[in-house]
Amino acid sequence: MQQLTYVKKRVLEWREAPEPTLHSPQEAIVRPFVAARCDLDNLPLFHNVTIPMKLGLAIHYLDPLVRDMLGNDPFRGPYPFGHECVAEVAECGGDVKNVKRGDRVIVPWAISCGHCFNCDHGLTSKCTTNSGDTLFSAYGFGSAMGPWGGAVSDKLRVPYADAMLVAVPAGVDPVAIASASDNMPDGWRTVAPQLQRYPGAPVLVVGGAARSIGLYAAGIAVALGSSRVDYLDSSRARLEIAQSLGANPIQIQGGARWYRKHAPRRSGPYLIGVDASASIAGLNYALRSLAPGGICTGVGIYGKAALPLMQMFTNSSTLHIGVAHHRADLPQLLAFLQTGKFKPEKVTTLVANWDDAPRAFLERTTKVVVKRDPLNER
Ligand SMILES: [Zn+2]
Ligand SMILES: [Zn+2]
Repeated sequence: MQQLTYVKKRVLEWREAPEPTLHSPQEAIVRPFVAARCDLDNLPLFHNVTIPMKLGLAIHYLDPLVRDMLGNDPFRGPYPFGHECVAEVAECGGDVKNVKRGDRVIVPWAISCGHCFNCDHGLTSKCTTNSGDTLFSAYGFGSAMGPWGGAVSDKLRVPYADAMLVAVPAGVDPVAIASASDNMPDGWRTVAPQLQRYPGAPVLVVGGAARSIGLYAAGIAVALGSSRVDYLDSSRARLEIAQSLGANPIQIQGGARWYRKHAPRRSGPYLIGVDASASIAGLNYALRSLAPGGICTGVGIYGKAALPLMQMFTNSSTLHIGVAHHRADLPQLLAFLQTGKFKPEKVTTLVANWDDAPRAFLERTTKVVVKRDPLNER
C-alpha cells in the first residue's frame, strides 16, 4: 500500500509499505479518505529539528522527557506521516460491535483502550495499556510512539476499534472536520468547559505557532456565547479568519517584546485565556491578562519557563498545560458541530487532492486538508 512518509525537512514521499492486518478480534482496519496537517507537523516539515534537539538534550538544555516522548532521534525520517484523518471502516475483528465495514469514522491521534484507569477518567491520550516505555502511543510520530503507522495511508490499524473510533455524525462534512482527530478538540478543551463555568465570559486567544488550534478555540468560543473573543496574532491571514469566525482581531507586531510591553501588570479583563502561540512570552501574556479567577490553557509544548506566579497568586489564576484528551472530548464536540453554529471549514485554507499530499502539506498556510473519494458512496 501507499503510505505518506516524512523523509526530512521539506521532503514528503509516497512510499510502499506492507498492509496492516488485524492482530486481535478487537481491532479494525480503516481506509483514511480525508487527512489534515496538524499544527505540530509544521515543526519537522519546515525546520531541521533532529540535530538541534539532540544537542539540546546532550547539554541538558532540553528536558530529558523530550527523549522519552520522541525517542533518541526526534523527528528523524523516514517515518509514516500524519495523525489527523477521517476514514472508512474496511475490516473489523470478530469482537467489534460499535462500527461496521463502510462506516465513516474519526480516528483520534492517540491510541486508547477505553478501559484502563486513565481512559476511564477521560485521560485517553495517556492510555497505559499500550504506552510501554514511551510517553504516548499514537499515529504519525514514528516508532517513538509505537508501530501504528501514519494517517495518510491506504490502510490504518486501529487496535481498540470500539473504544477509539467515533462515527462522523449525520450532516457533518468529513472534510470540514478533518482535524477532529487532534487540533479541533485541542481548541475545544481550551474554551468549552471554561465557558460552562463562566457562561458568556470574555476570552483572549493568543494566536501563533499552533496556527489552527487558536482559531478553532476562537471560533468555538464565539459560537458558545462568549461576550467577546479577542484574537491576537501577527499573521494577517489568521486575523482575517478569526474575524470571519466572529472574533475581534488584534494585530500585534513581533512577538516576545510586544507581549512584555503590553501585558497588564495587575490583572486583565479575561476570565478565559488561551495561549496558542506556543511561546513562553505568549503564555505569560495570556496569564497576565486574566481577570481574578481566570483560567488559562496553554496548548504549546513548553520548555523551562518563568511564569508570573505572584500575579497568578493575587488573581487566583488557574493554568492548565498538557496534552488534550481528544477521544474523551469528541462526543461533546461533535454534538456541538451538529448545531452548525461553528463553521470549522473557515479554518481550512487549502483542500488538495490526496495524491498531491507530498506537495500540499508543504504549503505555508494555516490548515491543509487532502481528500479522495470514499469507496462507499452514500
Ligand atoms: Zn498533532
Ligand atoms: Zn486505556
